[in-house]
Amino acid sequence: MAVATGREYLLYINGEASEPADGELRELIEPATGEPLGKVALAGEKDVDRAVDAARAAVEGDWAKTPPNERSRLLHALADAIVANRKELTELETRNVGKAISSVKAELSVAVEHYRYFASAIASISGRSNPIGGSLLFYSLKEPVGVAGQIVPWNYPLMMATWKLAPALAAGCSVVLKPDEATPLTALRVAELATDVGFPPGTINIVPGGGPTTGAYLVSHPGVDKVAFTGSTATGAEVMKLASNGIKRLTLELGGKSPNLVFADANLEDAIPSSVWSIYYAAGQSCEARSRVLVERPLYDDFVNAFSDAAGRLKVGDPLEPETQVGSLISQNHRDRVHGFVEQGRDEGAEVVLGGEPGDGSGAFYPPTVIAKVENAMTVAQEEIFGPVVTVIPFEDEKDAVRIANDVRYGLMATIWTGDAARGHRLARRIKSGLIGINMPYTAFPGIPFGGFKQSGFGRELGLETLELYLETKSVIFSTSPKPFNPFGL
Ligand code: NAD
Repeated sequence: MAVATGREYLLYINGEASEPADGELRELIEPATGEPLGKVALAGEKDVDRAVDAARAAVEGDWAKTPPNERSRLLHALADAIVANRKELTELETRNVGKAISSVKAELSVAVEHYRYFASAIASISGRSNPIGGSLLFYSLKEPVGVAGQIVPWNYPLMMATWKLAPALAAGCSVVLKPDEATPLTALRVAELATDVGFPPGTINIVPGGGPTTGAYLVSHPGVDKVAFTGSTATGAEVMKLASNGIKRLTLELGGKSPNLVFADANLEDAIPSSVWSIYYAAGQSCEARSRVLVERPLYDDFVNAFSDAAGRLKVGDPLEPETQVGSLISQNHRDRVHGFVEQGRDEGAEVVLGGEPGDGSGAFYPPTVIAKVENAMTVAQEEIFGPVVTVIPFEDEKDAVRIANDVRYGLMATIWTGDAARGHRLARRIKSGLIGINMPYTAFPGIPFGGFKQSGFGRELGLETLELYLETKSVIFSTSPKPFNPFGL
């Protein structure tokens, strides 16, 4: 394997690897083996100060004035460098997160497309102009917000960093990004590659560290102009409070409990395998995992059997094996949490029809689990389990399906499986979520806005809307009149 164990991974500040000034070195554990993977530097407050200073110097120096076509060229060059280094990055991510390498390869390809999308989307940054009355001319300028403090979770470290870095850099912002302390490796490597391809020092700074410490300090930092956060709803609420200090611009991409509606007229040859993928991809550790499958009553029993049969055939195991479809969870602690929800489901009267017991050994494996006889008010149907656990709930008709689909505090994604296209579009308007798939399970397309309704957050990733969130609009009004205004008549 290309990635050596036992290495030390330092912070990345001002275009170079950097020892922590007041942080610490922490052992990283490989989730699938329970063995040490390397040591990572965690940033302390002085390190965040240094990173923010470097980002400030970049954005107040030449970076924000870089012509858009130059930023576009750099983003394409970074995409090329990621492709050229894909083997190393894929292995780093797989070993750091424990996720199946087949998934990680797909995520890397999509991440590359996201860099390319924003490299092209830069061309769409423009203000507008308008003659006001006879002698006033208005035009607007789009200027980078400044220093972006970005915080990402552990479930898709490479892709989440991409979703944050690409639009911010395209807009001309500089970035201080805090990956999760457990999964910083690919973000650190991407920052090195960015310097190699020509991003100026200070444009990308990576400060791995704890959430309530490093993360909270970054969010509250007076040198940060905009906070972009991806993580749980509970942490998002905390970040919102912290960002109010200094009235920072804020976007939140938070949790989900997304429904997957299966009507009796659906093409089950597509709906069943796609629904299995929609929950068990990344071992269920996805914000948009369709973790509540809602099935029209006459189909319920047959669906539960067929779905469980398909889920039971997934290949769970060594994430580095190309055939593996479901790797390990992120940690033993997280596995215990996932299992706690399953036990709670049993206690509340639901029936575990597949899986439901942790794997043996030191890896953090948990099998694909199906819970049937679920009512939507149960904890397993309301809380984000963030593991390979699906609840299957019956519904009576369209109205009932929409009622159950909307009866959660989240609203990130919903998928509708039906042979009636008109019904699909009807429901798309009635379900409260940021993304709807009709007979289509996938997410995260470059250019298609991604983000939440309700407590799944606000702001959008991946679209032109995202660029706007890293830009300020400045209105300029110019008088062409030869007459002075002299408003006081002086
Ligand atoms: P988390 O909220 O515990 O942590 C997310 C990040 O926030 C980590 O980097 C963490 O260190 C940091 N953090 C924690 N406390 C903080 C604080 N007080 N101040 C600042 N930063 C802090 O979430 P997690 O368990 O790591 O990630 C899983 C969650 O992320 C799930 O809820 C999932 O749905 C969500 N998620 C959402 C999206 C989306 O696009 N909507 C994408 C991926 C993950």
